[in-house]
Amino acid sequence: MNTPLILVVEDEAHIAEVLEAYLRRDGYRTERAADGKSALRLAGHARPDLVLLDVHLPQLDGLEVLKTLRSSGNTPVILLTARGEDLDKMLGLRLGADDYVVKPFNPNEVVARVGAVLRRSSATPQPTERLKAGPLEVDPVAMVAWIAETRLELTLTEFRLLEHLVRYPNRT
Ligand code: CA
Repeated sequence: MNTPLILVVEDEAHIAEVLEAYLRRDGYRTERAADGKSALRLAGHARPDLVLLDVHLPQLDGLEVLKTLRSSGNTPVILLTARGEDLDKMLGLRLGADDYVVKPFNPNEVVARVGAVLRRSSATPQPTERLKAGPLEVDPVAMVAWIAETRLELTLTEFRLLEHLVRYPNRT
């Protein structure tokens, strides 16, 4: 299998450098773009396996980049957001981000998320497995939950917690 290529889209050079250094240390190849337009250009010809995408970017912001990426394929995307950007997070996840990380972040955590998203996206697509517990249903792949057929609006953290609880019922 080829070494995964990660496109780091971040206009703050020191953050981008740290991310690239940690990713490379873990054996990934990296490319970097410092604004939205060059991100899309690079994504088009370098065909990254995953995009680490800052939300606040010059030229074209991260959510616009995400929208365009989503309209042309399903390259996994992890958003880099600033603290308190709940709206951006929600919007980002609805637009189809695979995960997000809040700044200031621990680069090791980001690299771990990259690994997790790549594993998830490279897994052979499974017939959707829905977990059930009483009236609750969780689709861990689509990251959607329902209670008595009503779709729940959850943050990623709430979703993960719920998924865990449904997966391991009757445990403290
Ligand atoms: Ca930025």
